[in-house]
Amino acid sequence: MDLDLVSPATSNDPAVSVIRAKAQLRRALERPRREGLRIGLVPTMGYLHDGHLSLLRAARAECDLVVMSLFVNPTQFGPGEDLDRYPRDEERDLWLAAEAGVDFVYAPPVEEVYPEGFATTVAVGGPLTEVLDGDPSRRGPSHFRGVTTVVAKLLNSVGPDVAYFGQKDAQQAAVVRRMVRDLDFPVRIAVLPTVREPDGLAMSSRNAYLEPADRERAVALSRALAAVRDAALGGSPLAAALAAGEAELAAAGIEPEYLEARDAETFAAVAELGARPVLVAVAAPVGPARLIDNVLIDPANHGGEAATSSPGND
Ligand code: AMP
Repeated sequence: MDLDLVSPATSNDPAVSVIRAKAQLRRALERPRREGLRIGLVPTMGYLHDGHLSLLRAARAECDLVVMSLFVNPTQFGPGEDLDRYPRDEERDLWLAAEAGVDFVYAPPVEEVYPEGFATTVAVGGPLTEVLDGDPSRRGPSHFRGVTTVVAKLLNSVGPDVAYFGQKDAQQAAVVRRMVRDLDFPVRIAVLPTVREPDGLAMSSRNAYLEPADRERAVALSRALAAVRDAALGGSPLAAALAAGEAELAAAGIEPEYLEARDAETFAAVAELGARPVLVAVAAPVGPARLIDNVLIDPANHGGEAATSSPGND
């Protein structure tokens, strides 16, 4: 088969195969699938950091064959968003993927994913895609339509047993999980905890946009979420807890697009902490970057953030 091979550090390390076309991908996976190997898929937009690597490591530990997709998906970017300047470094990504033990990197060009005449979308309806980032005054439901359409295509092209996502993008993970359940995709969705910098900032490819002063201010997002969680678990009414979070952001000169508490599964608004897990999510512009972060409050589970992988669908 005609595959590009990229080797990490030394020639003794295993190489990763780079695949550009879906027909080639299908051919490469035919035999492993026939032999009953367990296939893991980690979808990414590249510019890898430790958050991505934690997903790759989990896939490597749990699966026989690991496929990472590397595709900056244009349909999930709005007209005024950062598609053109989204950070890219394919050479470094391939090297890191090889080092993490990825078997195949699927890195198609845009025309391979969206050929001339492409006209189909996959959309999850309802509150899951209409609130927080899906609010029409923010990124809007079309953002999630772009996500679900490309993830559906990737699931069809790879046919993984397990697909790995990060809790960092909690709404995306919930939307993907709903799509998989509603459309009977035979795959388990694993959601892994947010990986953070030592000071608490959630890792993100977009952190590359931050100049040192903004990088320092950006830590207020995770501080704000911790303030909300601590206040809520300490018995404050949710509104007061959210106000404590707002104060952390204001102290850093950050005006959030939203800082909201929602039911972690349905994304319905919640007025008070009850028995069900609550997701507190924030989005805010910090300098040239739009950053998001979230924290799970699960009173039944000593406060939350403990879950490492959720069962999803089988
Ligand atoms: P992206 O390349 O930003 O589209 O992210 C690819 C996958 O990595 C998504 O499932 C993200 O949720 C996940 N991810 C991104 N940042 C983090 C992080 N800091 N911790 C854990 N997972 C992450």
